[in-house]
Amino acid sequence: MLSWVVDHCAPVDAGPLRRVERDEPEPGPTQVRVRVACCGVCRTDLHLAEGDLPPKRPAVTPGHEVVGVVDAVGPGVTRLAVGDRVGVPWLGGTDGSCRFCRRGAENLCLAPLFTGWDLDGGYADLCLVDQGYAYRLPEALDDEHAAPLLCAGIIGYRALRAAAVPPGGRLGIYGFGGSAHLTAQVALHQGMRVHVLTRGEHNQRLAAHLGVDSVGGAADAPPEPLDGAILFAPAGELVPVALRALDRGATLAVAGIWSSDIPPLNYADELFQERRLRSVTANTRADGEEFLALAERFAIRATTVAYPMSEAPRALADLSHGRFGGAAVLHN
Ligand SMILES: [Zn+2]
Ligand SMILES: [Zn+2]
Repeated sequence: MLSWVVDHCAPVDAGPLRRVERDEPEPGPTQVRVRVACCGVCRTDLHLAEGDLPPKRPAVTPGHEVVGVVDAVGPGVTRLAVGDRVGVPWLGGTDGSCRFCRRGAENLCLAPLFTGWDLDGGYADLCLVDQGYAYRLPEALDDEHAAPLLCAGIIGYRALRAAAVPPGGRLGIYGFGGSAHLTAQVALHQGMRVHVLTRGEHNQRLAAHLGVDSVGGAADAPPEPLDGAILFAPAGELVPVALRALDRGATLAVAGIWSSDIPPLNYADELFQERRLRSVTANTRADGEEFLALAERFAIRATTVAYPMSEAPRALADLSHGRFGGAAVLHN
């Protein structure tokens, strides 16, 4: 089978990925093998290829928004069968026994396995997933529109809950790409007023198209104080900007797995009055199930740009350079 691998971490335009021929993987105990129909392109894939996130092992295959059909099952698989359509997400395994798993915070597991970082992901013809970490997908969604829900959608949803906006409250969204455009739809369905602050004409146009309450530049002030905000852009310099836009007692949730450094904060203007700053780390499987159910109920629609699997490097480069709005999806 053909697989893309991270050959050597380098700026995306220098070609960090290489396509190789590999043996078809055989599913081990409780694993299923998925024939990949398509795989969404997440900013994390870019961080991995460029070395912001150091690869956990050499020649790992990226991709953790995988949609496909089970074509083989390993010993002990009871939950899935050959022919089932499934989604393979970022969280690919946990130990189930550490202090975080035991208290229902498996997103903080001390020994997690992530798809496309520890485990080979979906930039390939086939990938493996443990039956306990695959999702069944809403039937109303085709493969291409389901893929971005699997990381962008789920993580964005966790970030939205972390921002703790009260019913009818005012949400700020900083940065507007694959994750934010799904999160904004959930927030609007939940009755929030949504203000988007982002650079990039594609992103601003997409936000306006979705019917948010206002759209401004990345470092602009929103038109009203915010009851909560999410920073999707991996830009630490926006943390103080977003904190200053918060109303008293409000939370800024940082959604990214990687960020550039955060400059010094001014305590009086940016943290006092019980403003809170917190990160969002991966997600639990319960977050995923909850989000996918909401996505079906609210008919959350990803704006996607399709690329053939053979053009994965071009999709990553276009993401890096902001050449599209929404989410890129690779097709086999
Ligand atoms: Zn654990
Ligand atoms: Zn992701």
